Amino acid sequence: MGLWYQIKEIGLIIAMTLFIGLLGYGFYRWLPVQHNPFKPLNLADPIGMATYNKLTDLKYNAGLCQAALLEAGVEVAILEKDDPKARCSLGETMVLQKSLTPYNAAPLRMTCHQIAALHMWERHVARPLAEDILGSPLSRIDTFGSFSCRNIAGTRTRSEHSYANAIDIAGFVLEDGRRISVLDHWREDSVNGEYLSKVHKGACRLFSVTLGPDYNAAHADHFHFDMGRSETCR
Ligand SMILES: [Zn+2]
Repeated sequence: MGLWYQIKEIGLIIAMTLFIGLLGYGFYRWLPVQHNPFKPLNLADPIGMATYNKLTDLKYNAGLCQAALLEAGVEVAILEKDDPKARCSLGETMVLQKSLTPYNAAPLRMTCHQIAALHMWERHVARPLAEDILGSPLSRIDTFGSFSCRNIAGTRTRSEHSYANAIDIAGFVLEDGRRISVLDHWREDSVNGEYLSKVHKGACRLFSVTLGPDYNAAHADHFHFDMGRSETCR
């Protein structure tokens, strides 16, 4: 093997490495942020292929999660850890003070990543769809609550509500005064029914678990959204 041949071979390896590096850099630079797993999550970014994993990563990075809420203008009050002897003793959680849409119930105590997912659902799903499908901005979201120290109905398993990692959504009020409720309008052949189907489907792209009336009778009047360990969309 001649020297010239070796130089050519090394040159080829260098050229290939540069080419792959440039491809990688181009991928990082030009892939839209919502599809790019290497760019940090901004809650104002549209929902894309990388959003769910980036939201899930917030479960393990409190600093990143709080920065994302702050950047998006979500106002929260941080609650210190509970007394470890308390029932359903929680680590650091938050009380939601202001997102984009008012909720009918307060206080809503949740984990940071649950608030982040909820804010994205409001911003990119519930609010724009209200205007697109129902022709009126959303003025209020009705909830049955978030934190609740209890088991899943009919089981001995702790509910994600007991970890402040879930919220139940019962309905929506529009600026023009109309009310849409899960109990009355789910699967109805109307714009109200279409709205509910689409906000449920949109939640599945953000939360680990999304349950509605099709799941079981216990959910006939609300959607359950949580950021727990299982993954379900029903
Ligand atoms: Zn629930």
